[in-house]
Amino acid sequence: MTKFSFAEQLNDFKITSEWLARRGWSEAAGGNMSIRIDALTKLHEDDHIKLPVEVPYLAGKAVLLTGSGTRAREIGENPEPHIGLFKISDDGLHYGWIAGNHNPSMELPAHFAIHNALERHRPEDKAILHTHPASLISLCHVPGFDNSKTISDNILSLQSEARLILPEGIGFVEHELPGSLELGLKSAEQLTRHHLVLWQYHGLLATGETLAGAFDKLEVFEKSARVYWQLRAAGIDPVGISEAETRKTLAAFGRLNRY
Ligand SMILES: [Zn+2]
Repeated sequence: MTKFSFAEQLNDFKITSEWLARRGWSEAAGGNMSIRIDALTKLHEDDHIKLPVEVPYLAGKAVLLTGSGTRAREIGENPEPHIGLFKISDDGLHYGWIAGNHNPSMELPAHFAIHNALERHRPEDKAILHTHPASLISLCHVPGFDNSKTISDNILSLQSEARLILPEGIGFVEHELPGSLELGLKSAEQLTRHHLVLWQYHGLLATGETLAGAFDKLEVFEKSARVYWQLRAAGIDPVGISEAETRKTLAAFGRLNRY
């Protein structure tokens, strides 16, 4: 196996995977992660694999991606055998394996499509995290919780700082085949406005400057969802913080324009 040295990124994979495993958010080999980087290595034309989607903003860039079937609990112990480095060709139409794990997650096209959108709209967000927290998946089974606004309004109003951290709310994509390009493309579209996208009946996609930063936002949303379920379990119909109060909080922190 060709080795690579991205100590900072590998440590980000390690720490975030440890936490995903501890929280029980990535059961079995569920979930996947990637980080976009600038790689100097040239991709040889013999190594070109055609992409099912054009990614012009990724031309010449590279992505570190978790391998197919890899488990968060094992990446958390030793990330290197589980992460592969893939380079995108200069025409943005092909990719090829460079180093590390050479059997990438089936979500590779989705990750590339999302990185392409991030590079265009929010280049500072270099990390993508996908995982399966039960409290978030459960929200998708509540009648009426089938769109971005309803979920954002009902869940982010349950804790004072949630809307402050996520003023734009949560993106939402209706159920799609796991690993499909459609899922990736719909998520990429949502991520131009949101840092988090809930995949109906499946899990969450989060972006950040680092994986740990994406995990932060995931934690904030998950905490509010847990408050929701605790209230429901106690037989209480959650009321939430009023919109006027939310606007006041956001205005005080200069984030009302992002609401
Ligand atoms: Zn998944």
